[in-house]
Amino acid sequence: MGYLQGFAVTFKKLTEDRVTTEYPEQKRPKADRLHGRHVLNRYEDGMEKCIGCELCAGVCPANCIYVRGKDNPDGDPVSPGERYGFIYEINYLRCIHCDMCVEACPTEAITESKLFEFSFTNRADAIYTKNELLVDDDGMPQHLPWEDWRPGEDEMTSGWMRATASSGNAAYEGKVAWSGELGYGVRAPEIGQSQDAPPADTSDSGAH
Ligand code: SF4
Ligand code: SF4
Repeated sequence: MGYLQGFAVTFKKLTEDRVTTEYPEQKRPKADRLHGRHVLNRYEDGMEKCIGCELCAGVCPANCIYVRGKDNPDGDPVSPGERYGFIYEINYLRCIHCDMCVEACPTEAITESKLFEFSFTNRADAIYTKNELLVDDDGMPQHLPWEDWRPGEDEMTSGWMRATASSGNAAYEGKVAWSGELGYGVRAPEIGQSQDAPPADTSDSGAH
């Protein structure tokens, strides 16, 4: 009797929708806040958001970020702050994609895309440099030769940060509390973090 029940389960499953896909040709849609490959963001005017404060490196539990700040050049600043991220590296042989660096960053400079299919064949490629992490002139992540990007994976790279940073506290729901971003501008406030969301109020938007 037992094996008949086993066959019944097998035949029942034959008619159900598959839960698997033909990966990697087909990929499932990724969650908006998936933690993927990082990007270094710019403000809408093209200035870099990183101020070289090293908070991300200090909080990283995997010790995989290396940052060195430098005073902005007189008359030709790289960031709006006193300093900028002169050297910035992330070692993806160590990163566990916890996003604590994203939470710690005071300027929303470091965030994550939804790319996680990036395979390297040597150590140098695994250590991403500032030039590779910095978004391009349109505010989009650069596509490196060994990365397998699919549509949508390079969009909304600040999605996760916005919900979990202190500026995303439910007490501030409906208010813009993050800075403008090259390619996206100042994004609309999020709702849904508390049951009794206050009405949207964008009067204090654009805080840098
Ligand atoms: S995601 Fe986590 S492990 Fe990766 S660089 Fe950021 S803090 Fe470090
Ligand atoms: S990415 Fe953010 S936390 Fe890290 S050094 Fe730059 S400004 Fe500081």
